[in-house]
Amino acid sequence: MKSLEIEALPRLDPRDEGPLGWMSEGICAQTDVDLFTVEGRKKHSVKAAKAVCARCLVTDECLQYALDNDLEGVFGGTTTEERKRMKKVQRSA
Ligand code: SF4
Repeated sequence: MKSLEIEALPRLDPRDEGPLGWMSEGICAQTDVDLFTVEGRKKHSVKAAKAVCARCLVTDECLQYALDNDLEGVFGGTTTEERKRMKKVQRSA
């Protein structure tokens, strides 16, 4: 499982329409990135991160990216554990 700091995500031009262009529209880029990291959970709740994701316009893209890249932390409104369960269900279907 890879750990990813959101602040390490490439800062993209909002006009970028490439495969990762959605990242520039993520609300998390304007908030405390610690909300979304495993390390940040020591001082923030998962609920707070999910509340930000709930207002984000690129949740679907973010969730798929996290699933495809086995990321740790809150992405696309899901936790690492929730995505693991999603993958397990997908594999058993
Ligand atoms: S869904 Fe959440 S983690 Fe993903 S870009 Fe939006 S705010 Fe950031």
